[in-house]
Amino acid sequence: MDENHWNLGTWRGVPVSMHWTFLLSCAWLFLITWSLVATAIASVALLALFFAHEFGHVAVLRRKRIPVESIVIAGLHGRTSHGWASGRDQMHVAWGGVAAQLVVLVLALTLQYALVSFVASPLAWTIAGPVLLVWTKLNVFLMVIALLPIGPFDGRDAWTVVARARGAMRKRRVAKAPKPMPEPQLTEAQHRALEASSEKAAADLLAKFGRNEDRSRKDA
Ligand SMILES: [Zn+2]
Repeated sequence: MDENHWNLGTWRGVPVSMHWTFLLSCAWLFLITWSLVATAIASVALLALFFAHEFGHVAVLRRKRIPVESIVIAGLHGRTSHGWASGRDQMHVAWGGVAAQLVVLVLALTLQYALVSFVASPLAWTIAGPVLLVWTKLNVFLMVIALLPIGPFDGRDAWTVVARARGAMRKRRVAKAPKPMPEPQLTEAQHRALEASSEKAAADLLAKFGRNEDRSRKDA
């Protein structure tokens, strides 16, 4: 591990570390809350949110049996390194992180609703306030950052879903289009019989025309 990271330990044999930029996010939380207690609580909530995001990636990787190599928690967006994955698998892995954040958002909104309805204690709100701030408003902001289609963010792989959906729709349209009638496959004997009958029909037609012409000349 280089000097930019702190080793946090291993999880199921996967090294987990924290990049120093996480401290910048803690400073950012202080600028938002302007309280040391709220910053400490919000920092723990932010760390939990970042872990949820990376474990969203890990869950998809494990499901697809792709080896997880390391997990790094960082200031705005962490990184889960993994073994080789196809473009399609990488797209699913990318969405796994944001999907986990979405689960946290739904849980936080439910918790917020329950607290507003049933809990009036100021102490409960001292703890819940910063946690809910991170898991709702900051969570949505971080989801937007994660889905930016640039740099190290998940958006670069996640948004290949649009091109893939377009490709699949085009394929379905081609499959639905009526197919041209196949050419009848004739044997050589059938070919000869068809030619003979065509020649006979043409000769009959010519003979008929000839007869009609003779009759009209006689009539004249
Ligand atoms: Zn991610």
